[in-house]
Amino acid sequence: AKKSKGNQYSIYQLKMKGLNDKGLMFESKLFQAIKEDRLEIYYQPKIDIRTNEMVGMEALLRWKDPELGFIPPDQFIPFAEDCGLISEIGEWVLKNASLQINRWKQLYNVNLKVAINISPIHFQEANFINRLQSIITETKVDPTNLEIEITEMSMMDYNKQLIEKMKSIKELGITIAVDDFGTGYSSLGYLKEFPVDALKIDRSFIVNMQDGKSGIALVAAIITLAHALNLAVVAEGVESELELEILKEHNCEYVQGYLFSKPLTASDFSKKLEEIAG
Ligand code: C2E
Ligand code: CA
Ligand code: CA
Ligand code: CA
Repeated sequence: AKKSKGNQYSIYQLKMKGLNDKGLMFESKLFQAIKEDRLEIYYQPKIDIRTNEMVGMEALLRWKDPELGFIPPDQFIPFAEDCGLISEIGEWVLKNASLQINRWKQLYNVNLKVAINISPIHFQEANFINRLQSIITETKVDPTNLEIEITEMSMMDYNKQLIEKMKSIKELGITIAVDDFGTGYSSLGYLKEFPVDALKIDRSFIVNMQDGKSGIALVAAIITLAHALNLAVVAEGVESELELEILKEHNCEYVQGYLFSKPLTASDFSKKLEEIAG
């Protein structure tokens, strides 16, 4: 631990105290929200741009507190990681998204894959596979209807155990996608060692395509790299026809983004499925 001196120390303590007070309030509220099922999963369609068909969706968590209002996941997920609630949240999402995909399968006779974001902290837990297995047993979900999204961060600490864990997931029948690809950098050389199925290109790269040649070249290079490793490519945050055209031209397979749809509540997503079913 760091030793602090004189008033430096007391300022630090004061800061910690301030943070803790707010943190504790936040923590108990988040804990309550989990217990009382007041978190909600939104679903964003994923489209195969070769056929224009929806092939699945990404589960995106929302938290609306009666007093604090809407708290975006970019804020409460890092907090949940710090205070130790993230695994509970991850399991809640896995379970509820599994039940939802079962319902949709029954109601609309569709075979879609739901992608679930798993925090590196949750993923690194020793019993992750066991818990995943119990959720599959409990919900009776077909594991081939599930995809797990992990960020490059989860893959930074390259080791045998990590590879084994990923293999176990694949053996269950679940696919793995690397989220926010391009924003981390340490695992690029190891990418071919990981049993992953898809790369999701971070939205920042898609946005940068507007800047012209170099932005486009970068995205094209990522797609080429992915295909050389036999991975599918998902472009995130596609908002314009122009972006879509460039991605098509460079043989990107899948897209998500406001151009097709924002994340939807389960009931709005059902309406969409009804339309498709005709
Ligand atoms: P992410 O996994 O990279 O998710 C993509 C984010 O981009 C989502 O933000 C989505 O709503 C947004 N998005 C999708 N299409 C577009 C578009 O065309 N334009 C723009 N500007 N944005 C678009 P969201 O839902 O706010 O989630 C933010 C982040 O929070 C996620 O980034 C993910 O890292 C995290 N997160 C969300 N749900 C969960 C969860 O259940 N578990 C964990 N561990 N993390 C989650
Ligand atoms: Ca994601
Ligand atoms: Ca992402
Ligand atoms: Ca992101």
